[in-house]
Amino acid sequence: MMKKKDFIFDGCNMTELAAKYGTPLYVMSESSIVDKCREIKARFLNQYPNTRAVFASKAFQTLEVCRIVTREGLGMDTVSGGEIYTAHKAGVPMENLDFHGNNKTLQEIQMAVDYNVGRIVVDNRYELQNLNQYAGEANKKVKILFRFTPGVDSHTHKFITTGQLDSKFGIPLENGILKEMVKLAEEMEHVELMGFHFHVGSQLSSNEAHLAALDIALKMMKEVKAELGFETKELNIGGGFGIHYTGDEKTVNISEFLDPVMEELYVKCEEYGLSVPEITIEPGRWIVGEAGVTLYTVGSIKEIPGIRKYIGIDGGMTDNIRPGLYDAKYEALIANKMNQQETEVVSIAGKCCESTDILIYDIELPKAESGDILAVLGTGAYCYALSSNYNRIPRAAVVLVKDGEDRLIVKRETYEEMISREI
Ligand SMILES: *Cc1c(COP(=O)(O)O)cnc(C)c1O
Repeated sequence: MMKKKDFIFDGCNMTELAAKYGTPLYVMSESSIVDKCREIKARFLNQYPNTRAVFASKAFQTLEVCRIVTREGLGMDTVSGGEIYTAHKAGVPMENLDFHGNNKTLQEIQMAVDYNVGRIVVDNRYELQNLNQYAGEANKKVKILFRFTPGVDSHTHKFITTGQLDSKFGIPLENGILKEMVKLAEEMEHVELMGFHFHVGSQLSSNEAHLAALDIALKMMKEVKAELGFETKELNIGGGFGIHYTGDEKTVNISEFLDPVMEELYVKCEEYGLSVPEITIEPGRWIVGEAGVTLYTVGSIKEIPGIRKYIGIDGGMTDNIRPGLYDAKYEALIANKMNQQETEVVSIAGKCCESTDILIYDIELPKAESGDILAVLGTGAYCYALSSNYNRIPRAAVVLVKDGEDRLIVKRETYEEMISREI
């Protein structure tokens, strides 16, 4: 009889954790989140003066995660009233919040003003007018940035194509639209325009798009200074730093990614006669993605001879919609069979009534049996955040682990809770 060997994650035994809390279960490593925050501090914040990092909380927001990243000195990027509310309840200083969104509701704008959210990243003229009006009623002056679409200026660059211009986010640079907005904001009494924001994409492995967008931003900043006398104090260059999911995909190295960006910033600011603005980065996935593992119990196993073997798990698209939504890929292992060789190629099937509810196609695993604990890796970002009650499956619990200690930070949803708002 082979000795059993379990998957250990941040000092905790995942097989035992599955037994203790049940499955499906999200497990988040606090050490990993903290390490990532500290890496940003060491390699970016401490390297460059006048810089700021905020956690894009849409990737994974709970009260406890808000507390952890705040303790580590990061601010927070929010995209809805609900995210602002959660951050507020967690005790995140409101001046550290950035508030994004292409269609913030009036209630959300009012909430952001009432809560004194640090920066409202204005996306369009309608929002600007509503914001100025409400801030006036509240007798406040709110600090804002303009989110712009780093447009089509450079047809040579594959990231900066017309596809970028055709985005639901941000203010176009074309036809002087952004400049008009700058003028408008400068005339408004209750907003103070601090600068600009761009976000080029997600799960990026290289900084090409950032460099191209920065170039365009700096040219625009030079123009608004020359033409309107507007001096940019702050520039938020977004998030999107990629992580490892499968194969030889590499986690972005913060220095390699951002050093050239900062170099470019200093050189161009000098050349254009601009004072160097405060630079903010807003990574989400990079901070929490690799900190997460999802545990499932294997149930039914179906083999279609010569075609495919399906391993059925007790979760799926309700706790991780990314494979179904955009063909995301994951690695997995059998947590209670760490010392066994991979002997078969199988596909991991979720339990929802959708054919797209397949978490992983064609993964090599040790021979799986009903009752095994399957661990899917790298599920810390955009899984819990995108979870649903489809098929009336209760949302999974979240356990935080650190150096061999575990504690529940989100309780498993109950059937009663699922119907609690229904009349
Ligand atoms: C989603 C988003 C981010 C974070 O993206 P990641 O890929 O998770 O780093 C940052 N800024 C804005 C404006 C976003 O919409």
